[in-house]
Amino acid sequence: MYRRSRFVVAKKTENHLYLFHTLTKQCYQTDRDLMREQLSAEEIENNPDLKKLTEEWFYVKQDYDESRQYFSVFKILRAFRAEKGFVHYLIYPTSKCNARCVYCIEEDMKKRSMKAETARQAAAYIASTHRKGAKICLTWWGGEPLIEEKKIDLITEYLQNEKIDYFSNMITNGSLINERIIHKMHDLWKMDLVQISMDCGEQEYIRRKNYYSYHNEYFTIMEKVNELVQNDVGVMVRVNVDMDNIAYAEEFIRDLKKAVREPSKVPLYFAPLHQSRAADGDSIWKNVFRLDHVVREEGFANRFEHLPNFFTLYKCMSDGQEGVVIDTEGRLLACEACVEGTSFGDVWNGVVDKEMWNSHNEICEIREECKTCVCLPLCTPFSKCPHVQANCKALPMHEIDMGLERIIAENE
Ligand code: SF4
Ligand code: SF4
Ligand code: SF4
Repeated sequence: MYRRSRFVVAKKTENHLYLFHTLTKQCYQTDRDLMREQLSAEEIENNPDLKKLTEEWFYVKQDYDESRQYFSVFKILRAFRAEKGFVHYLIYPTSKCNARCVYCIEEDMKKRSMKAETARQAAAYIASTHRKGAKICLTWWGGEPLIEEKKIDLITEYLQNEKIDYFSNMITNGSLINERIIHKMHDLWKMDLVQISMDCGEQEYIRRKNYYSYHNEYFTIMEKVNELVQNDVGVMVRVNVDMDNIAYAEEFIRDLKKAVREPSKVPLYFAPLHQSRAADGDSIWKNVFRLDHVVREEGFANRFEHLPNFFTLYKCMSDGQEGVVIDTEGRLLACEACVEGTSFGDVWNGVVDKEMWNSHNEICEIREECKTCVCLPLCTPFSKCPHVQANCKALPMHEIDMGLERIIAENE
């Protein structure tokens, strides 16, 4: 007997059945009644479509261990992929900010900015540790990174002088963006994406951002989105949500629609705050997924336009040794959440604590609850993330759903 693979997601329409395999990333359109949970070898042999699906692992032998198969592929690809040098640096020019968001993870950190001497050393560290021949990615993070734009200049000028090929992106509240900065983003910082964080409707925005001094940022930032688009700097709007502000999400979409001239060039998405992901379970995700459809209907770009189409070798920058975090003090860390006590070196001495550093490259065993999960090949077995998720399947399943909906819309 054969059974349907654990890595298959099926979606029926009036006329067809769509099958997506999360390991191979193949997607088939077939007859509506084709897919069954169990099949005999004889049935497969007599039906060319079922035969094809079996050859492509949509059906597997009853006792076949798919999580083991996935894990072997994963380990082999990781071993082949291992190359020397970093391709990604996440840099904190400052942990200071002109806003005081009620949910800020930096809230408990000491407010510090990178000194010029540290920035120069960080640039020298990047120049000596990047992967040769690769284009490297710099992510500017904070705090509000634009408070320390001179440190960003210093590091990027250094890299330019050293003829190192780089591009960058930034996570910002957007309030300090102006024409001069946009030109610099384009020319010197080589910025391909600015992610602006918002907080639903105007009153919620004012309350949550809690700026030291508020000057109509809610609407002026929306205008700046246009200027970024006009100047060929990619921009994405992320709206932080929980169950207390989600009711104002539609108001935000309406306001942004009025302000933005080319919504199709602006990806917009709603992201549950970490506290909400841990506590609110399904209710917050249901709201977020509904909003993704509103975003699509209103003509904004949606981050989940396509089915996942690559093999996830690394869960995030903390998994593996492809990238490193440099904080305001020049310390090296693995994770953007900068968990205290997890620094393994600094930009003067490089990696000092080899044990801590190597622990981020260890391949974790697959957890029991993941072995039969359809999302496993999209997840990787990495388990060091400090954030708790009440419903870990929600987002990967939604990504598949949105991708399938798009394919169905194009093919029905
Ligand atoms: S804008 Fe970002 S860094 Fe600034 S307070 Fe809010 S969450 Fe923190
Ligand atoms: S972490 Fe959650 S979504 Fe990922 S494989 Fe495990 S059970 Fe599935
Ligand atoms: S371990 Fe978690 S918080 Fe840290 S970089 Fe990865 S996903 Fe982000």
